[in-house]
Amino acid sequence: MDDESSLGGASLPSAGVDARKRRVSYFYEPTIGDYYYGQGHPMKPHRIRMAHNLVVHYYLHRRMEVSRPFPAAPADIRRFHSDDYVDFLSSVAPDAAAASDHASSRSLRRFNVGEDCPVFDGLFGFCQSSAGGSIGAAVKLNRQDADIAVNWAGGLHHAKKSEASGFCYVNDIVLGILELLKVHRGVAGVGGWVGCVVMFADIDIHHGDGVEEAFFTTDRVMTVSFHKFGDFFPGTGHIKDIGVGLGKYYALNVPLNDGMDDVSFRSLFRPTIQKVMEVYQPDAVVLQCGADSLAGDRLGCFNLSVKGHADCLRYLRSFNVPLMVLGGGGYTIRNVARCWCYETAVAVGVEPDNNLPYNEYYEYFGPDYTLHVEPASIENQNTAKDLEKIRNMLLEQLSKLPHAPSVQFQTAPPITQAPEEVGVKEEEELDRRPRSRLWNGEGYESDIDEDEKPHYHSLNTDGPRMADADMRDTAAKIKEEDMMDADSPTSAT
Ligand SMILES: [Zn+2]
Repeated sequence: MDDESSLGGASLPSAGVDARKRRVSYFYEPTIGDYYYGQGHPMKPHRIRMAHNLVVHYYLHRRMEVSRPFPAAPADIRRFHSDDYVDFLSSVAPDAAAASDHASSRSLRRFNVGEDCPVFDGLFGFCQSSAGGSIGAAVKLNRQDADIAVNWAGGLHHAKKSEASGFCYVNDIVLGILELLKVHRGVAGVGGWVGCVVMFADIDIHHGDGVEEAFFTTDRVMTVSFHKFGDFFPGTGHIKDIGVGLGKYYALNVPLNDGMDDVSFRSLFRPTIQKVMEVYQPDAVVLQCGADSLAGDRLGCFNLSVKGHADCLRYLRSFNVPLMVLGGGGYTIRNVARCWCYETAVAVGVEPDNNLPYNEYYEYFGPDYTLHVEPASIENQNTAKDLEKIRNMLLEQLSKLPHAPSVQFQTAPPITQAPEEVGVKEEEELDRRPRSRLWNGEGYESDIDEDEKPHYHSLNTDGPRMADADMRDTAAKIKEEDMMDADSPTSAT
């Protein structure tokens, strides 16, 4: 591996003397790969285990602190989600989901659980691990114990306050950002304290709707989502959706067409983010690295290479601001593993060899067995003219932001907006409204049996439990010998 010296990052003013080295904290739950959404379902937690396995075989774990997340407690999840939804998620069982009694089918409909978001074995434990990793990552950054904190099991950006959506149940991103917002900073020359502000950037191919909605009315979180727009899930994320009230101009949306390639993506990402960093000056940045924007994704239609995708992380890292790096979508799982492994390498500042080391899932990566794969030769339906127009509109919106956010004094930090009360009748209306689906339920031809259920570990692990408020500040260190998963999936022959 080479050190990063040959890789040109952005030379921005915040880069310190030792801008190359970063203390990286990485969260990984060893049982995460055992959770199974169901036969044929495109969301496969197994991809996180595959990515981790590559990370270990490249010895990247030796360059960072690896922790097992404490499962988020229901009380932690309630900081964003409604009580009745959390009660439902923590008690629903696959058997109950199959039962056809009126009460359970009504709950399933009410919380949008069933098709895209099925009830599966250990569902709540999966949500607790995902959310626990992102909350733990925020705690590490808040304590200044790490410069970059990574949780590939996080990034589940579609989950709503009282509703599952797009394969997401608990919005670990909102919970992680709420944790980051607890930090207050002194204001130079003013002698007061203000709440810190956070930028959320989202490069999943789908709009980051759940996070945007949570912070749509506040200026304390600026959301920036790059996504396919037009006849595509979830349907939101128009360029003119910019936030409301105090949050006006604090949401940015970058709507894109099929075939986005590395050069086009970079030509929007870099100038937009540079302007946000300059004007908004966030105290922390959260990047959702959904890998369904990669070329050849089972559900996506962009054409990014792993390097093009990782360039977003490389660029954000160059600002030297506390950075949380999360997963998200990604449905061609061999490429998701490649991407998140490479991005882990970018976080720690090394360039891994393109030839994959031998690993538990080696046969998934044939016929080339390389880390990088060539993008497809498909048409980029984003013309230079489109891109320029979008870039100009975004910069125009950003020019409306007040400069120097440190003077925007706030006495009562607006956290996520309380929901408006809805009457029973309205609620029933809500239950009946049509919902779009991320996946049409069709099966798909895979060159390897990715649909087979992985070998099942006991999900009731004797691992750490988040016992009380103080406990959540610590995460269990993973010992070197526990780094590898004991079992490979039965499908990996
Ligand atoms: Zn997605």
